Amino acid sequence: MDVLLDIAEPGQTPKPHEIRLEDQKRVVGIDLGTTYSLVAAVDMDGKPACIADDAGVLSLPSVVYYSDEPGREPITGQKALEQAINHPEKTIASAKRLMGRGLEDLADEMSHSSLALEAGEGGMVQIAVGSQHISPVGVAAEILKSLKSRAEEAMGGELHGAVITVPAYFDDAQRQATKDAGRLAGLEVLRLVNEPTAAALAYGLDQGREGMYAIYDLGGGTFDISILKLNKGVFQVMSTGGNSSLGGDDFDNKLADLFIQEIGDENPSATLMQICKREARRVKEQLSQLEETTVNIAKPDGGNYSRTITRSEFNELIKKLVRATGLPCRRAMKDAGLSGDKLQGVVLVGGSTRVPAVRDFVAEIFKQEPLVDVDPDQVVALGAAHQADLLSGNRRDGMLLLDVTPLSLGIETMGELVEKIVPRNSPIPTARAQEFTTFKDGQTAMAIHVVQGERELVSECRSLARFELRGIPAMTAGAARIRVTFQVDADGLLTVSAHEETTQIAQSVMVKPAYGLSDGEIETMLRDAIAHGADDMLARAFNEAKVDADRVLAASGAALKHDGDLLSEQELKKVKAAMLKLWETTQGKDHEAINQAIRDLDRDTTFFAQRRMDRGVQSSMTGHSVDEFS
Ligand code: ADP
Ligand code: MG
Repeated sequence: MDVLLDIAEPGQTPKPHEIRLEDQKRVVGIDLGTTYSLVAAVDMDGKPACIADDAGVLSLPSVVYYSDEPGREPITGQKALEQAINHPEKTIASAKRLMGRGLEDLADEMSHSSLALEAGEGGMVQIAVGSQHISPVGVAAEILKSLKSRAEEAMGGELHGAVITVPAYFDDAQRQATKDAGRLAGLEVLRLVNEPTAAALAYGLDQGREGMYAIYDLGGGTFDISILKLNKGVFQVMSTGGNSSLGGDDFDNKLADLFIQEIGDENPSATLMQICKREARRVKEQLSQLEETTVNIAKPDGGNYSRTITRSEFNELIKKLVRATGLPCRRAMKDAGLSGDKLQGVVLVGGSTRVPAVRDFVAEIFKQEPLVDVDPDQVVALGAAHQADLLSGNRRDGMLLLDVTPLSLGIETMGELVEKIVPRNSPIPTARAQEFTTFKDGQTAMAIHVVQGERELVSECRSLARFELRGIPAMTAGAARIRVTFQVDADGLLTVSAHEETTQIAQSVMVKPAYGLSDGEIETMLRDAIAHGADDMLARAFNEAKVDADRVLAASGAALKHDGDLLSEQELKKVKAAMLKLWETTQGKDHEAINQAIRDLDRDTTFFAQRRMDRGVQSSMTGHSVDEFS
């Protein structure tokens, strides 16, 4: 199949994606957390604030209780949490961990879950509650409905839209599940925004600072680290990382396991597990303030389990979990090309960053004291509210929020090489175009192979899509102008289009670049790219030299065919020898040798080129064709 030949530098045309609604819409930002969810809106003065429930409480526990009684609506929040003690099997908490996941993804979850998880539609996990089968999306929708009605009451009318936040590395299925939950709750989802990005937005607003920041978000069920660049009112995500199964819930589980073990119950009931977990959370949260506290749990066989637990005992229990956040931090820093002292600041997000041992560790890893100016529980919702306000068009002076592509996107060119069109960590939305041309005379079709990855060779990258641009008018090689455009929208979806300038024929294809790859896979691809960087550069240099050589050989061959008569036998021999020498180098591995042979051939054919030019001039002056002369 004919392939592409690169002829131009990328024309960089970032095209901000905009959602325009009419003025002054009622819009909110929602932090749909694993453990707590919040809703916030921007007030008349342009300041975001969280909206409280009737009791004045901001955080809604992300818990839903499903009663057996027919026709009874599910109960959410604190009231549902209270049901968990007596009806753990009907009370669904941490459903966010199950969203958009299949049963086989969830081995870890199962061991600590008191819920009956089963495979539902398309292998997606669902929860059996009595005779009901409840999807995690349905649970999230209940939480969102609750926040929606709270906000509508406060804002005096129906909501026009919401920005919902998700962990930075939620994959496509998890993001889609979140969007579905929004729709089920009757919300217009303006956009999904990564949680750390929302937090940074809230910080930039309040502080107006510039530079590089690390956002360390340790919540109940997820850990996110992001390196952001704040510059002239624009926040750019430089890199992200984290662990989708690490958070304060795991701290609770460590403590709960200790209690169960000390109670000595081999087969603890769901109720006892629940009580231990609740105690664990209380103890943990108290130890953020106090040096020690006490546990009291009624034993199932009578009697009381009671003991004092100190902060240092707790620190020891969670030490491994806390230190596990270090590797993603170091990697994110490296990805962003930073060392610790280049960071302007470290922002703490999430309830678990209240744990002193976590703060100490953050200070140790980033070599500076973290910032805590904005409440770490509210910061995500506040940033989301601001983003919703910007997207709704309520404010015209706003900043643009930028996310990035996790891996480079490009196309295959001659020599099985990758031409990167959108580099890794490019802010999205983005549109980039590059011009290519035909390689052969009379070429009427062009294969476009879209790939993702950091490696130089196509075979080492991930193939995303292939399509063909047909109907290119037959021209000499290099005459056609084919513009290939990559557009990545705000949700990370890629559209590749190609069009030929003279005929305006066009083809396009939509692909999903980032999603579908797990964090681990992205990581592996990056690691490989780094490990093979030197080999790849050599392979690229060789393939490029070979493409050049093939072109020079083809051109020389054609020249000999047409104008060989201009050479003496001696001269002809010399040119042919230089061509043979060049061809031989292409059979080896050494790109330097190829380039040298090209230069030699060039030198040995200068006089030939001169004579051919003279003949060309002569022929055009006399109006005769070259063929007539030969
Ligand atoms: P998520 O984003 O996962 O919903 P949050 O940011 O709301 O999580 O954080 C919830 C976690 O923070 C829970 O594990 C909770 O126990 C923990 N947490 C809240 N307050 C404290 C505190 N004072 N000390 C320690 N942990 C806390
Ligand atoms: Mg959170």
